[in-house]
Amino acid sequence: MKAWVVEKLGTQPVMKEIDKPKAGPGEVLVKMAGAGLCHTDISVVDYGIEICPFLGHEFVLGHENAGYIAELGEGVDNVEVGEAVVVICTHFCNECEFCESGNDNYCHCVKEITRGLNINGGMAEYMVVPAHEVVSLGNVDPRVGVALADAGLTSYAAAEHCAKYVKDNGYSVVIGVGGLGSYSLQYLKNLTNGKVIVVDTTEEKLERATRLGADYVFMSNAETAEKIMELTGGRGVDGVIDFVGINPTFELAKAITRSTGTIVIIGISNDSMKVAFGLIKGGVDVRVSEGGTIRQLRGAVELAKAGKLVMDVEFYKFSELPRALQDLRDNKLTGRGVITFDDI
Ligand code: NAD
Ligand code: ZN
Repeated sequence: MKAWVVEKLGTQPVMKEIDKPKAGPGEVLVKMAGAGLCHTDISVVDYGIEICPFLGHEFVLGHENAGYIAELGEGVDNVEVGEAVVVICTHFCNECEFCESGNDNYCHCVKEITRGLNINGGMAEYMVVPAHEVVSLGNVDPRVGVALADAGLTSYAAAEHCAKYVKDNGYSVVIGVGGLGSYSLQYLKNLTNGKVIVVDTTEEKLERATRLGADYVFMSNAETAEKIMELTGGRGVDGVIDFVGINPTFELAKAITRSTGTIVIIGISNDSMKVAFGLIKGGVDVRVSEGGTIRQLRGAVELAKAGKLVMDVEFYKFSELPRALQDLRDNKLTGRGVITFDDI
């Protein structure tokens, strides 16, 4: 079968013929319908950032995956052949203390292994995954619902955490309203009765955020912190989700978050942020959040099934992956970029 393979971190994926996998016990074979493009893919192929330890062998790119069940391994009874499913981006054992306490995105057993980041992901005709890592999409087109595997899930986990801090008529902030941030904005509007503020560097993204329900939008520049502090009457905001994760955006988050509020870091960069007594207001919880749980993925899918989520996607053919990655690099995408499989 055809696959886009990363031979080494920091190198561009190449199209290759590889063996079609087979579902083992407890696993399912998925015929791919959509593979989402995440900014993390850019970190891996351009900058060689080791999101998961490089295992020394090539792997198929793609950690945001959806398709149709093509084959059931022994003992699988939670899905049927032909069903549309979305595959959670994080891999988990479903048995350890983290999984049993509902924190499967932090499963220690297989945490260091992630499809599309160090083992084979979904930018291939087929992919094998444990059956407990798929969620049925029902009537949702997998080429659209695929965005819930990571973009719509990681943002759900971040928004659920942030919402706990937002007081009645309080404020939350989304910094970077791209593939992930545009979902958090929608979840925060659903989960809180406060105002949602969005910060980004491009006008198009801010206009789209307004269409998606943002109450206030600001360009990211030297005056943003002051403007947000003024808007909140000097009190500051209850929670910030930083989808950029670089020093300037973290400094903004520190400047605008009230005491005992929260800052959730989602964006991945090589920057090291400074947190120390006196550099951040007392009682602020800083959380580094990774992916989301299978419960949260089910929650996101339910919202999609009910038509409550705007899930903008931009389709690329399988052969167009290099152009799709370039558009993501150039910040040209408004919705999630999705590789489809119609041309193979
Ligand atoms: P994206 O490129 O679609 O969106 C990024 C957005 O940030 C864009 O709208 C861009 O205009 C904006 N932006 C860039 N610089 C900015 C600045 N200085 N101030 C304000 N806005 C700025 O990316 P994405 O796919 O949504 O991913 C967002 C980040 O989340 C990436 O760093 C990605 O690696 C990371 N990520 C983390 C996890 C996790 O589990 N923590 C999971 C998936 C992705
Ligand atoms: Zn991702």
